[in-house]
Formats: sequence, C-alpha cells, structure tokens
Amino acid sequence: MKIPVDQITQSPKEIMFSEKIEDLNSFFANEKYRDFHFPPVLDGSLVYYRSGQELFFQGSFGGRFEGCCGRCLANYSFDVEKSFDIVLVPDPARPERKVEELRREELGLSYYSSDIIELAPLIEEQVLLALPTRPLCREDCRGLCGGCGVNLNIEECACVPAAPSDSRLAIFRTLKINR
Ligand SMILES: [Zn+2]
Ligand SMILES: [Zn+2]
Repeated sequence: MKIPVDQITQSPKEIMFSEKIEDLNSFFANEKYRDFHFPPVLDGSLVYYRSGQELFFQGSFGGRFEGCCGRCLANYSFDVEKSFDIVLVPDPARPERKVEELRREELGLSYYSSDIIELAPLIEEQVLLALPTRPLCREDCRGLCGGCGVNLNIEECACVPAAPSDSRLAIFRTLKINR
C-alpha cells in the first residue's frame, strides 16, 4: 500500500490494510538457523496523521507464521500479534548526516525522502521485530540427541546421557573464566 505524503493530514485517518510480505520469505531462504515462513499477506489496521513535517503511523497486525525450532529443527506454527508506533521525519540529506543517523537510532526515528510512503517495508520491519530471537516449538522442547540425532520429543534413544562429571567440568570452566 502506498500513501501520498500530501494526503496525510493533521486529523488522523484509520484504515485496514492487507500488505504483501512474501519478500520476507526469500529474505530467510538462505538463513540456516533462523528459518521462518510467512503467509503471503498480512492483515492489520493503521492510523496515520502528521504534525508539521513529522508523520505518525500507529497500528497493529496479526498473523500465523511458521518457524523452525532451534532445538529439534521441526517446523511449527505460532501466532503473532503486534502493535507498532512509527515516526517518519524528512530526510535531511545534509553533510552532517552521520550525526543525524546517530540521533535517529537514539530516537527510533526513520526518514522519508519521497512524496509517497510505502507501507510494505515499514510493516516488514515490524514483522522482523516481532519474531522470536530463538524459535522453539515449545518451551520444554528436548531437542535432538547429540549422539544419534533422534528427536527426543518423539522417541527415546539408547545413547548414554551426558555424565554428571560433565556439569562439574562446566563449573570448573566457569571458575576459570571468572578468574
Ligand atoms: Zn523443538
Ligand atoms: Zn541418541
């Protein structure tokens, strides 16, 4: 969806949107460990308005995504509900840009430089922010056996569990690091 900047007024407008987020799938296609799959379209609602040159976008979206569990590598579905609050300020495009970029990160601001605001990249960014940093099919996922590779959520294996001496070793290692 595209919103012409000159149609953003001081009085808030509320819209429903259906944004294509398919591009995110190719974004993750080459990632080995953070494997997510997204529906082609994401639905949400948005309120937008301006104050001077600053543009405000407040909204929310929800959807069902697919993730690849970081422990057992199984695919699973999870629901995401996210609300967001975005402020866009005019791109200063001045030599002191570096300072401006710093300021931008501090304030959580983004720039706009054209006469049209494209909603898709803004929404995609919010989708990425809503993803779990470590996807797990469930909190207590037992993962794959380090010895034989079976999925321990589904079957037991005959491998000898890690001996208790391992954890004692781990404590020694920790002590070393702390020294
Ligand atoms: Zn799992
Ligand atoms: Zn095993």
